[in-house]
Order: sequence, then C-alpha cells, then structure tokens
Amino acid sequence: MNRIAFFCIPAWGHTNPTVEVVRTLVRQGHQVLYYSFVPFREKLEEAGAEVVLCDSFLPPPPKDLDKKVGKDFSVLVEMAADTTLALEEKVCRELAEFQTEVIVSDSVCFWGKLFAWKLGIPYVCSTTTFAFNLHTARLMKPKAGEMLRTILGGARVERKLTLLRQHGYPVENLTDLIQNDNDTDTIVYTSKAFQPMAETFSERYAFVGPSLPEIPKREEKERPLVYVSMGTVVRGKPGFYRRCVEALSSLDVDVVMSVGTEENVNALGPLPENVQAASRVDQLAVLAQADAFLTHCGMNSASEAIWCGVPTVLYPQQSEEGAVADRMEELGLGLRLKNESHIREAISAVLTEPSYQEKTCAMGETFRDSGGAQRAAEKILSCIR
Ligand code: UDP
Repeated sequence: MNRIAFFCIPAWGHTNPTVEVVRTLVRQGHQVLYYSFVPFREKLEEAGAEVVLCDSFLPPPPKDLDKKVGKDFSVLVEMAADTTLALEEKVCRELAEFQTEVIVSDSVCFWGKLFAWKLGIPYVCSTTTFAFNLHTARLMKPKAGEMLRTILGGARVERKLTLLRQHGYPVENLTDLIQNDNDTDTIVYTSKAFQPMAETFSERYAFVGPSLPEIPKREEKERPLVYVSMGTVVRGKPGFYRRCVEALSSLDVDVVMSVGTEENVNALGPLPENVQAASRVDQLAVLAQADAFLTHCGMNSASEAIWCGVPTVLYPQQSEEGAVADRMEELGLGLRLKNESHIREAISAVLTEPSYQEKTCAMGETFRDSGGAQRAAEKILSCIR
C-alpha cells in the first residue's frame, strides 16, 4: 500500500481527469489524500479519496477574476504564492503525518509542486491541457493585452518569488514555477497523436489519453442531437445562447445547452420545443448521444467529444482554448465558428460532411489506445522511491 497526495486548483476541467486515477489507485489498495475544494468534495470522496478542503486558505479573488483567468498570468501566480504560504503550516504537517510517498499536482496548482520541492517528496505533474514547453508555448498566441498585463505584473511576481524563497521554496525564476522540463515526471491526459509537437517531450511524459468514467451506449433516436456548452469557467452570455436558439430551433434537430448559470437559464425565458437549457448537465451522458457539439474548446470538452466521436464547431474564448481549436481544425475534427451569425451553417456542415465524424472517431481510437487512468496510476507509483 502506498500513500499519494493530490493537489488541484478549484476547477472542474482540472479535477475531472484525476477522478478516475484516484479511483484506480484506491481500488488497488493505495491511500489517497486530496487537497481540493467544496464543489469537488463529493465526487472525489465517491472515488475513494480522503479530501482536505482548502477553500478558506485561498486569497480573496480580485474583483474581475473571471476576466483575468487565462489572460493575466501574474494575478494567478500571485494568488498561487499567497495560497502556498497560507497552506504551508497545515499542509507540511499533514503531509508528514500521512507519510506521503509521492505528490501529484496539477500543472497550474503551483503550491503542490512547491510543497514537493520543499519537503523533498517525489513530484508528478498532472497536465489536463496540452503539455507545455518552450516549443508549444508558441502555439498559445497570447493577445497583445494579455502579454502587456503579464509584463506589467512582472515586478509583483518577483516580489512573491522572493517571499517564497525566504520560506525555503527553491524557486529561482518564474519559468521554474510555471513550466516543467523534460526531467519532470508528467501525466498528460491526451494521446501523442493529439498533442502538438509530441516529439519535443521526453520519455518522462506519459500521454495516457483522457481518463473518463464509463460512458453510456449510444441509443437510436429520431433526429440528430446538438449540444452547446461554453464550459464551466467562461460560461457564455445570454446573447450567445439566444443566437444559438435562433439558429438551431428551425433545424430538424434536438438541442441541449449547458449555459453555466441559473441567471443564463432564466434570461433565456421560454424555449422552443426542441431546445433545452440547464445551468449544468451530465456532459458525458449528453455527448454519448450527441451528433454535433458547439464548444469553447476547453481541453476536457474537446477530449470528451473526440472520445465519443462527436464532430465539433469550435468557438474558443481564450488563448489556451485557441490552441485546442487550432489543433482540432488542423486535424479536420471540427469547423471553426467564424462569428455568431454562422452557427446554423457551421452546425449543418459538421452534421452532413462525414469526414468530421470519421476523423474524430479515428482520433478517439488513439485515446483508447493510450492507457487512461490505469497507465496514469502506474506512472505515479513508478515515481515512488
Ligand atoms: N461539464 C459538465 N457539465 C456541464 C459543463 C461541463 O459535466 O454542464 C464538465 C465537462 O464534462 C468537462 C469540464 O466540466 O469535464 C469542463 O472542462 P473544460 O476543460 O472543457 O472547460 P472549462 O470549464 O475548464 O473551461
């Protein structure tokens, strides 16, 4: 029996892929301590983890955090440094008591990596986006405003790094904190075929494919099902969903929209008979039956669509999602939405041109061949000294 500690940020997209890994480890008789947050507790406990809640240790979010996520990196680094120092006393004590043998930390949950470094515990990076290095960084194409904010935040970040060093965290520079090198053991929840520039990553990277629970079987139905979601972070505005309703209600399809909030559901008012909207849906259950997916191209949504063989209309909102959309377009798995008056045309195209679905299904096979949660668990255990 081994003892494994997981760390993750409060985000579904970063937590979900680890759930089946936890389940696999616990089933094999290992003990998992998971540092997470209230919304994720039930799902993680159900998978067998002992959950430690970190909500009260997060610094108060800046007023317009929603706008800054994915756009102002210095704000996130500052928040991560503050979180590390707030958790330090509690976590260092608990990790010692638990006799932690390996720490698995999300690639942007910098505090997990910092605790591993400080305490000399083996560290495995859990990457729910594309694996990231100097080569793939070029694919992210940050917008001018994003770059400017990051440059202007440089002095604030440097102050936090100095503080971390004073507390015994061996972090020399920002790159150390945000990037992993080819010597870092890393799990990536995609296949080598989907990862851009896969050849630039060392053997320490395990491309295990998506780690998903069992997905319901596809059922016979009268007409195609179109699924719309802008994810759980950006979530989309009522105006966008209204345009989806206008564009899709006259097509011979059923439509399910995950609109992110109850306010968005209420703002839509009464809907046509073939359209349903909810603040949140069981996305995998919907994708299992869907024939087209209008997506913001979050990595998990993209992976889940590919796994289920559902062709996509690509509508990225942030640079990271832009990189996923570029890859999907390049591989012929989806069609980019030119603008919001193009929704009907784009959905019709992916429903009727078979190559989108064929290529998506072929990529799904590379996912299934990558080993999933079982291979991720093996990778983690192989890092224990
Ligand atoms: N999700 C869900 N129900 C919803 C919307 C999203 O279960 O109504 C899940 C989805 O299956 C995926 C995650 O939330 O696993 C979203 O992650 P992604 O990386 O696609 O986007 P993010 O929300 O992080 O932008």
